[in-house]
Amino acid sequence: MIRHLQYTRARLAQRSERLRAAIRPETRPADELLVSPAVDRISWDEAQTLTYRPAELGERFGPLWATYWFRIRATVPAEWRGRRVELMWSSLSEATLWRDGRPLQGLNTGGAGERPDAVIAESAEPGSVELQVELACNGMFGDMDRSAELQRCELAVVDPDAWRLYFDFETLRALELETRDEAWAGHLREELARFCDTGDPAVLAALYENHNGSHTHELAAIGHAHIDTAWLWPLAETYRKCVRTFSSQLRYMDDYPEYRFACSQAQQYAWIKERDPDLWSRIRAKVDAGQFVPVGGSWVEPDCNLPSGESLIRQFLHGQRWFERELGRRHREFWSPDAFGYAGQLPQILRETGITRFLTQKLSWNRFNRPEHHTFVWQGDDGSEVLGHFPPADTYNSEVTVGELAKASRQFLDHEHSQTSLLVFGYGDGGGGPTKDMLETLRRASDLQGLPRTTQVTSEEFFDRLEAEPGERPVVVGELYFEYHRGVYTSQAAVKRGNRRCEQALHDAEFLAVARGGAYPRAELDRLWKLLLLQQFHDILPGSSIADVYGDARRDLEEVEAAANALCGDGDELVNTIGFTRRKVVGERFVEAPPFGTARVVDADDEVRVDGLTLENAHLRAALDEDGRLLSLVDKATGRESLAAPGNVFELYDDDPVAFDAWDIDPYTLATGRPAPAATSYAVTASPLRAEIAFEHPSFTQVVRLDAESRRLEFHVEVDWHESHTLLKVCFPLAVRAATATYEMPFGYAERPTHYSTSWDRARYEVPAHRFADLSEHGFGVALLNDCKYGYSCYGNELRLSLLRSPKSPDPDADMGRHRFAYAVLPHAGGWRDAGVVAEAMRFNVPLRRTAAIEPFAAVDDPNVVLDTIKRAEDSDAIVLRLYEAHGGRGSARVRLASPFASAHRANALEDVADALAVDGQTIVVPYRPHEIVTVKVET
Ligand SMILES: [Zn+2]
Repeated sequence: MIRHLQYTRARLAQRSERLRAAIRPETRPADELLVSPAVDRISWDEAQTLTYRPAELGERFGPLWATYWFRIRATVPAEWRGRRVELMWSSLSEATLWRDGRPLQGLNTGGAGERPDAVIAESAEPGSVELQVELACNGMFGDMDRSAELQRCELAVVDPDAWRLYFDFETLRALELETRDEAWAGHLREELARFCDTGDPAVLAALYENHNGSHTHELAAIGHAHIDTAWLWPLAETYRKCVRTFSSQLRYMDDYPEYRFACSQAQQYAWIKERDPDLWSRIRAKVDAGQFVPVGGSWVEPDCNLPSGESLIRQFLHGQRWFERELGRRHREFWSPDAFGYAGQLPQILRETGITRFLTQKLSWNRFNRPEHHTFVWQGDDGSEVLGHFPPADTYNSEVTVGELAKASRQFLDHEHSQTSLLVFGYGDGGGGPTKDMLETLRRASDLQGLPRTTQVTSEEFFDRLEAEPGERPVVVGELYFEYHRGVYTSQAAVKRGNRRCEQALHDAEFLAVARGGAYPRAELDRLWKLLLLQQFHDILPGSSIADVYGDARRDLEEVEAAANALCGDGDELVNTIGFTRRKVVGERFVEAPPFGTARVVDADDEVRVDGLTLENAHLRAALDEDGRLLSLVDKATGRESLAAPGNVFELYDDDPVAFDAWDIDPYTLATGRPAPAATSYAVTASPLRAEIAFEHPSFTQVVRLDAESRRLEFHVEVDWHESHTLLKVCFPLAVRAATATYEMPFGYAERPTHYSTSWDRARYEVPAHRFADLSEHGFGVALLNDCKYGYSCYGNELRLSLLRSPKSPDPDADMGRHRFAYAVLPHAGGWRDAGVVAEAMRFNVPLRRTAAIEPFAAVDDPNVVLDTIKRAEDSDAIVLRLYEAHGGRGSARVRLASPFASAHRANALEDVADALAVDGQTIVVPYRPHEIVTVKVET
């Protein structure tokens, strides 16, 4: 015998190909193939009314996003009786196979996620077969580099022995290439070659008797199809992706009883329930059978940095309630493989919504520091803990290759204290899910020498196993900052502005409906919230989708805002919808308003004075120059100058990332800043209540405003933006030294370094934030507020707000056109907490609402505690108050309600009632811990 490694491996590869070719020994073309004209995404019923004409193989179909319906008539010959018969289809596109008006399975060819085969009969009856195919002129990832083309449409008969033999052989062949155990590899080579010589299946069977040792890594495998709710395709296509994916996977569950398929996002289930009751009943049957596994508890898989704290709570409130109502269960895990970072209050929000477990994968993409653990306790800002897991294969789209199985075990970082990890397998992002090939490989790899021991489990079973493991787990505290995709805090500015405005409009609509009493517009609020939650999906709000998605998003956000404003009602009074007092200029008047109450006109205790380009009131003296720069900003109470150098400098940066255009701001970008063209003219207007300087720049205007009594200097900007691969920031070099800056985040804040000392510091060169960022040293600081932005950077004393980007992919027109936004500088004595920066950021964001007067509704006596949300309970007319501790302090707040009430209880964010709270007349006593989010349910 002559042994030769390369010849042997080449021969094994050749045999594998031959075995694969033998799986379908015979095929038959269709007898008749008809096609409709190009149509929109229509229903099956509508498709039946179309006119059909003969179609030819080789015919091309387009344009992108068009749909064609096909009618296929084919004959199963007598000699195929009793055998498995499949349709083999290739159109270089996505497609859905229909039979008798039901979606049977998804088909996909021409790129990622190949799925050309669909079983027509397990045991065929001879005779005529009629099928329909809905061809979508798009690929799994949307756009295609060529048009759809009908390449194949035929019946095939399957040889089940050849099918099994191929996978028996191929799994072992792949293992020979992958294993690092030379003795085992040598034996595999020798025996696989012997199989080639003899063709004896017993040779392979004997190899499968080589099991794993007694101590080996356990891989828990769960099928999945990450279906981005919108991304490189619009929402309307997502529904069809769901139909294709779910119908395929339901069929595989019949063939593979061990198969488990995890599916998240209540929104996607809700679409199916609404539009395809038959498919929904098939899903429910497999849910009951334990194979179709709902996971996640959220409405969609949202971005986890940019939505407000209340929005994040609503993601789970609506998700959990939907799963509970429709499927009789709440979920215990947050399933979020793909979001771009996770705010530090998320563990608490999860615990408050019944969730104790957390799955992501995304942090394996970090560009500076890889996560140090795959299994850990994630402790939030307030100390709430959830059990976190990152699948060590570093993908949520595993194709279950032998190499991936081995890699999952090899890369696992926690072998010392854990023996289990999760493998999430199946084509994803564009949906699709597992194929039968993957399920066959899994069967064979379940207990084979050289591979982790692999079983298919539900998500519950996996986390139960993890929880049952003894030993101490590492604890990871605070936000999980994603060291990648830092452009998503800024891309698609209109959607971000819409999100901020919709959050506020819904907040106001809920509060005013409670404050006024009467019928609560429950159904409309439910509808509007769900429409907003959908826009917070992790490719919509971040700005990483195609233009069509943003057309839909702008329309939906405008609808939410307009409808929520309509709920707020008309009137001639000005109502304060936040929990802080207001004194401010409105038009020609000066008004004062209590928390959650109606404003009245008062005299201002102050007047603004203008001297050239210097504006001054009782608190601030601001000096600008003709270029529009802020030369000096003095806090008069302390006498402190805020600026170390001219501020309010608009800077343009080269922003052409090496990959992920809409997603990324690359590390080099922040070194490329240059001042934008200076103002060419200005005009001053002044009254005792308000002074403004309007600067005209070549491509934008800005109005610098100082009001009587105001502690902040405001900048209102309008830009007509037509740049390419350019980032616009505004810079304020502050006369402040601090090693960390503070950034508002959902129901809390994050402190992040102002230097690049370590790789962890450097990685945070651009960070997410909500309504403010603040740089404070002992005794003095400066906050930079914004009304619709989410990206900041701070290096040394230079605090910058990211205003606009201009990525060209995947939306070539992203951010082109007109924008309006505002920011403000707020110098303050003391730190940001004592200075009331949170309140001032809320005041800056929330105008007094012009509507009918209300009686003052509620007030909190404690500066640490924000009374944020006031709504009716989901299931009763009880009033729900949501408060959060904003400073990291501890104490007991007194919440006074204007109207008498019967009782007050602590509740979780799902509004399940817990302990009664002490009540003193009309005052509720709310003890609180640092960073605590408190839900109070008040029975009236
Ligand atoms: Zn995704």
